[in-house]
Amino acid sequence: MGTVRPSSNRTFTQSVTLCGRRGTAEGLSRPGHDVGATTLVVVSTAVTEPTAGSRTYQVRTFGCQMNVHDSERLSGLLEEAGYRAAGEGGPADVVVFNTCAVRENADNKLYGNLGHLASVKAQHPGMQIAVGGCLAQKDRGEIVRRAPWVDVVFGTHNVGSLPTLLERARHNAQAQVEILDALEVFPSSLPAKRDSHYAGWVSISVGCNNTCTFCIVPSLRGREADRRPGDVLAEVQMLVADGVLEVTLLGQNVNSYGVQFGDRQAFGKLLRACGEIGGLERVRFTSPHPKDFTPDVIEAMAQTPNVCHQLHMPLQSGSDRVLKAMRRSYRSARYLSILAEVRAAMPDAAITTDIIVGFPGETDDDFEQTLDVVRESRFAGAFTFQYSPRPGTPAATLPGQIPPGVVAERFGRLAEVVTASTLAENQRQVGRTVELLVSAGEGRKDQASGRLTGRARDGRLVHFAPRPATPGVVDRSIRPGDVVSVAVTRAAPHHLVADDGVLTHRRTRAGDRSEEGTPLLTPGVGLGMPSLGRPARRAEPVAACG
Ligand code: SF4
Repeated sequence: MGTVRPSSNRTFTQSVTLCGRRGTAEGLSRPGHDVGATTLVVVSTAVTEPTAGSRTYQVRTFGCQMNVHDSERLSGLLEEAGYRAAGEGGPADVVVFNTCAVRENADNKLYGNLGHLASVKAQHPGMQIAVGGCLAQKDRGEIVRRAPWVDVVFGTHNVGSLPTLLERARHNAQAQVEILDALEVFPSSLPAKRDSHYAGWVSISVGCNNTCTFCIVPSLRGREADRRPGDVLAEVQMLVADGVLEVTLLGQNVNSYGVQFGDRQAFGKLLRACGEIGGLERVRFTSPHPKDFTPDVIEAMAQTPNVCHQLHMPLQSGSDRVLKAMRRSYRSARYLSILAEVRAAMPDAAITTDIIVGFPGETDDDFEQTLDVVRESRFAGAFTFQYSPRPGTPAATLPGQIPPGVVAERFGRLAEVVTASTLAENQRQVGRTVELLVSAGEGRKDQASGRLTGRARDGRLVHFAPRPATPGVVDRSIRPGDVVSVAVTRAAPHHLVADDGVLTHRRTRAGDRSEEGTPLLTPGVGLGMPSLGRPARRAEPVAACG
């Protein structure tokens, strides 16, 4: 069916026929050529299809914040290449799936989506489908074998190749598969089309040096690579110059930031440096790791006024035996002592977490220990997951897999304890005045309720009545990106309500830009990989196929 091209030990490149493309009277036939054992007769559509300049695109994102931010880069790359975002009217000319291999049934969902698009593509000649992200990195050429109507497959290390691969697939009328085994260019050095005018993601590292047994990330994203602090700060400054008020520093393990350039306190220093950037009102980060969370970071958080008192600290399990089996090197006592240190320095800190239920070998007693830690931790929120084996992870083959019924029962009990905790923590907010950065699209019932929604400095979601509490406070409309203050009137487990009106309203440049509706396009920032000291460059064109 296809052929795997000779490749270096770092690159997997494959060229296969595009199924579903038939020769037409108008098309230009290319001579048949031998590919492996199969003779291909393919038809070039290049001369009859529109160029990138008039083609539309849509990026569909699955998974974590890393993927959300990578999708901003993918959109930026496509815009720079001349594509434009598809409207509601019809199918896009290019549909890009940015996939996740962490979530349960990720592959079933992807192939289900691809199956649906096969018929859409059959009715829209020239349409292209690209698949990138973690699942593409994992499944490689398998994707075009299972879904031969896919045009491009690219991995987590070469998002910058997408426009080139699309162009080559169109020109050669052959699917292009390119997977690199190591990062060569930070995605941050690529242009981005930002989802928000008021809040921006800034990647500080990619990859992870840990080996949690349930996690596929290290094998798909590779070892940790840290960006230069100067590059990170330059990107933050660029966003602020564009009116952005809030940045979230992104890494699989932000607390090990600096390991690559020999400064174990680099993350705390980075937070303090963000505090020096005028106009930057809020700094957040995700995710920290209890193993590497050090007092200097707590001090930096407490002493840097624009760093938000919000901490997402993954617990995963409250049982030391299970943590050991997960290869998470902290223990529950250490975890709780970190939370105590954080609350001693920042009594108003909102702490959220991730918890996995039903890890292989988890006993009732282990699970009860998790419930105990959850009760003691006073979480403001928690993402809870039912363990299910992920192919390719060490835990998938561990003995003692827990029956799904037991996992579901424990999950339900955990949800009750988490909900009680988050509701109690939220109820402590009632009567307090909070500053909100007004958000777009976060309040699903806003239209029906007549409320707007914003995030408090501690990350809590607050739905508020946009009318003025006192005359004259709101002179014109409140836009996403504006800043308001409100008094909390009611608490629910996952949000707060402020129905007594707006106490203050500050119009911002981010609000102006949201109102204008022009997308925020930012250039790439970075000089490449610090360990290699290479000059800045865009992704090189991939090796020719076909
Ligand atoms: S710290 Fe553990 S869970 Fe997080 S990305 Fe690394 S290996 Fe995965």
